[in-house]
Amino acid sequence: MKKIIAGLIAGAVSYSAVAANPAITDVFTADPAPIVHNDTVYVYVGRDEAKPDEFYTMNEWLVYSSTDMVNWKSHGSPLKPTDFEWSSGAAWAGHVIEKDGKFYWYTTSDHKTIHGKAIGVAVSDSPTGPFKDARGSALVTNDMTKATDISWDDIDPAAFIDDDGQAWLYWGNQKAYYAKLKPNMTELDGEIHVVPDEEVKGFTEAPWIHKRGDTYYLSYAVGFPEKTAYSTSKSITGPWKYQGLIAEGASNSNTIHQGIIDYKGQSYFFYHTGMMQHPNTGGSYRRSMAIEYLHYNEDGTIKKINQTSEGVKPVK
Ligand code: CA
Repeated sequence: MKKIIAGLIAGAVSYSAVAANPAITDVFTADPAPIVHNDTVYVYVGRDEAKPDEFYTMNEWLVYSSTDMVNWKSHGSPLKPTDFEWSSGAAWAGHVIEKDGKFYWYTTSDHKTIHGKAIGVAVSDSPTGPFKDARGSALVTNDMTKATDISWDDIDPAAFIDDDGQAWLYWGNQKAYYAKLKPNMTELDGEIHVVPDEEVKGFTEAPWIHKRGDTYYLSYAVGFPEKTAYSTSKSITGPWKYQGLIAEGASNSNTIHQGIIDYKGQSYFFYHTGMMQHPNTGGSYRRSMAIEYLHYNEDGTIKKINQTSEGVKPVK
């Protein structure tokens, strides 16, 4: 318990001479969403608090930073679902993106009055917060999308700003949705689109957009228990070409939730596993962030991720 509390104090650092997965071991860290800002990696996670026999119990999001991909500094919890007046809780997956010096945190949580999960957006002048609700209302509510009749299809937001400055939001469960964001980053601009099923075969959830050269990559969780697949396109709006799996299922976890960044000349694949061991036993509702190298083939396709307990080496 002492270790868990220590990890929540802002400024706590988990020092490590060698890399290892899970990358953070003081608390559980689910749904990692990394970004790079000013030569530092920031990763945004949800904190799993479920007891060994419980379903998802997530009351806050956490932020960590690193400059070597191995030693992660805790910045505590600068945002909770209950910081959104309209939300009744559940700190499900989110994603932070920077625009014009402001940091926008797109989140998933429960809505108090509109049944189902909803996407909110919080804003801060710093990547480590404090963050506050940027709207005073949810950005996307369950009743706005009807491609499935489940109440959790509006989850897992992933924002992306294209080279022309246009921002986009992807999200979804069972169906992959996307929409333009207005320049203020806090309103949708126009209608919500659905990516055709054949362009994101087996889509479960957790879309993530990145771009390399002139190719857009849409990676996502497929099947259940989940693996990671991806599709590519020459446009942010598709059409997308299914490219197959990049990761097999995560160890001891029925979800995987990838995030992909480049940092100091390497590409990295963030995900979570249920592999936390002593003192806390991991599992599908007690997940921990892990990091691997991501490599491309010459034709731009992604090589299969090698999931390891060794993790990645410190990078200067
Ligand atoms: Ca919906």
